Amino acid sequence: AKEAGKAQFARYSEELQIVVQRRLELESALGQALQRGEFELYYQPICRLDRSPPCLSGVEALLRWRQGERLVAPLEFIPVLEESGEIVAVGEWVLRQACRQVRAWQLGGQEQLRCSVNISSRQLQQPEFVPRLIDILRETGLPPTSLILEITESLLMQDNLETLVSLRELAGLGVQLALDDFGTGYAALGYLARFPLNILKVDKSFIGGIPHDHELNTIARAIIGLGRSLGLEVAAEGIEDAEQLAFVVREGCHYAQGYWLGRPQSSADMQRLFDGEAGP
Ligand code: C2E
Ligand code: CA
Ligand code: CA
Ligand code: CA
Repeated sequence: AKEAGKAQFARYSEELQIVVQRRLELESALGQALQRGEFELYYQPICRLDRSPPCLSGVEALLRWRQGERLVAPLEFIPVLEESGEIVAVGEWVLRQACRQVRAWQLGGQEQLRCSVNISSRQLQQPEFVPRLIDILRETGLPPTSLILEITESLLMQDNLETLVSLRELAGLGVQLALDDFGTGYAALGYLARFPLNILKVDKSFIGGIPHDHELNTIARAIIGLGRSLGLEVAAEGIEDAEQLAFVVREGCHYAQGYWLGRPQSSADMQRLFDGEAGP
């Protein structure tokens, strides 16, 4: 048994070594990705629901990492960037790139288009975050009221005074704040009142069960109602079919996003979509 145990341990440590090796390779490749221009933004349409049919109100910028033929999704590398702190530089690149692109679309005829960008807590905790953001808005010409920053509950949970001050400054500029993935974290509801939020994004895990999962329907309905009664705008993400869309329209969501309304796509594909639109 002792021998078998030893053999098993040797196998585990070999596997562990492979895991560590892969992680080191990933970190080193990621360390160079920004300079090498390997990051790319995809854009997913966000629709307003107060018109029939729903109409485009903005796009959410979603980061991709191009590795040759492969397009790597953020869940594979954002945690690594967050841990190393590189998310600060990458996040600033994302902000500048997204603001520049949406401004170009606005000037090309999509005057009302809004730009949603995901922000990590590490980024917002930088004392330089707000001044840099102001520079980016000035440099790109995007009106602050066209920008929506998507933050998560974990940021609010840290209950950090500097973060609160930054968020208030941003609100003062007219930048909109959306609470992403609402309901998946641990935010006490008191946080909702304390921070200057504009939009609540109902996480797609609550939308995915509509219409067949009655418990999830109830939760989704309650979250939408909570957002509305706090005077926030409510956005539903992960809308994958007509029934889910009908449900969130009926429950009073203001915005919806999901494969049913439009997949995340390259800026070139988005541009083709705008070019193909019927004229006024
Ligand atoms: P998120 O902010 O919740 O973004 C929505 C995710 O849901 C995206 O995944 C999108 O592709 C996916 N999605 C959209 N519609 C549907 C649908 O109908 N069904 C399903 N099942 N999924 C849908 P993606 O692009 O893989 O991004 C994953 C997460 O990575 C994002 O979740 C966000 O938290 C993070 N992320 C993406 N870009 C950035 C970035 O530039 N900075 C930071 N800090 N985080 C980012
Ligand atoms: Ca988001
Ligand atoms: Ca989300
Ligand atoms: Ca998410």
